[in-house]
Amino acid sequence: MTNKQDTPAATSCADDFDPNSLNMEDAIKRIQSMLSPLNAYEQIDIRRALGKTLFENVKSTINVPAYTNSAMDGYAIKHAERENNLLLSGTAFAGKPFEGTLKDNETIRIMTGAAIPEGADTVVMQEHVETQESSIKLTRPISFGENIRKQGEDLKLGETALQKGRQLRASDIGLLASMGISEVKVTRNLRVAFFSTGDELKNVGEPLEHGQIYDSNRYTLHCMLEKLGCNVLDMGIIPDNIDEIESAFNTASKNSDVLITSGGVSVGEADFVKITLEKLGKVNFWKIAMKPGRPLAVGTIDNAYFFGLPGNPVSAMVTFYQFVQPALRFLMGQSQFENSVLHIKCISKLKKRPGRVEFQRGILFKDENGDFVVKTTGNQGSHVLSSMSKANCFIILEQDSGNIDEGTIVKVQTFESLM
Ligand code: AMP
Ligand code: MG
Repeated sequence: MTNKQDTPAATSCADDFDPNSLNMEDAIKRIQSMLSPLNAYEQIDIRRALGKTLFENVKSTINVPAYTNSAMDGYAIKHAERENNLLLSGTAFAGKPFEGTLKDNETIRIMTGAAIPEGADTVVMQEHVETQESSIKLTRPISFGENIRKQGEDLKLGETALQKGRQLRASDIGLLASMGISEVKVTRNLRVAFFSTGDELKNVGEPLEHGQIYDSNRYTLHCMLEKLGCNVLDMGIIPDNIDEIESAFNTASKNSDVLITSGGVSVGEADFVKITLEKLGKVNFWKIAMKPGRPLAVGTIDNAYFFGLPGNPVSAMVTFYQFVQPALRFLMGQSQFENSVLHIKCISKLKKRPGRVEFQRGILFKDENGDFVVKTTGNQGSHVLSSMSKANCFIILEQDSGNIDEGTIVKVQTFESLM
């Protein structure tokens, strides 16, 4: 792989171990210690809250279910009377309770969800009774309290139903509705500004001249930020020009919580970006022991957090996924977030040199036995964006690992949460 930004003067790509590189865990810890979660919320209709982050604990305002009810279509009985002929003395529907009290020799017909009448303690499935004209007889033994859903067995009044910091899912929205809650406090959307740097970059729709490429990073970034629920401010392409870069940083830091850039973070290549950042804010340039995506700039400019991603399209996506995504989620209040990892058999041979963690692009699929396995997408160059497009997961190869043989169990991270 040739990757200009990965080759500072004193090292080469063949030299994968760099004693000055930070390992990933340390980089993530350093980023988290720099961040304070956003302390601002909006109160919104629960139907708009899907995917947003809960700003405070939600306690149940009622018992759910609110009343003890039947889990089956059948007959409500007193368990002590189960061996007798029971007189059919009424019916309870969901929403239309039986208002009387069950006497010793009685039963009522009861539908799923209907309130259990006073005096009854057990429900018999309709398939387990013999019916005569106006009475029933049980055809098999039954335990006390069977087929009954107790008041508050889902949620008890006053119990914490959903924890602060939770990213709300469809089931959570349903749970809120089941408690009669129509509005909820969520962290307000993060405002994220981003721009690309590079004299070679062109916007889509414009003709390309020799030596130019289309800016793709702004599009991948836009999509990943939208999927995270951020309000995105796309500031376009900024040329490699010190004044324009400075003015873009100033505009962005005034109008956003977070600023993300791509390109020009490597040493020696676009020094004016580095110089500008050092002049305007507190920014660290890190070399991280990972591939792709070794250079990453992290810091603050005024009140905005700053992430400078490498320019190569795969590197930009990988560093976003591994560092910026957890950081943005942390700022939203999702303090527990971690990208999840599966252990899967790899059916390809993989090239790997010890020294850096690698995020190779993989395809997770079912083999002929119906077992999930993973294979490589092929060319792993950090400029090969089609490798991300073909992939549905990263194959994570540990820092110390060398080449991987077919059949090895590897760590896999699916793209589900973002791409
Ligand atoms: P840089 O990080 O600026 O050294 O860029 C590294 C490589 O990524 C170069 O080949 C750039 O042309 C390419 N690159 C930089 N920015 C972008 C972008 N926004 N879209 C696509 N490729 C880019
Ligand atoms: Mg550049």
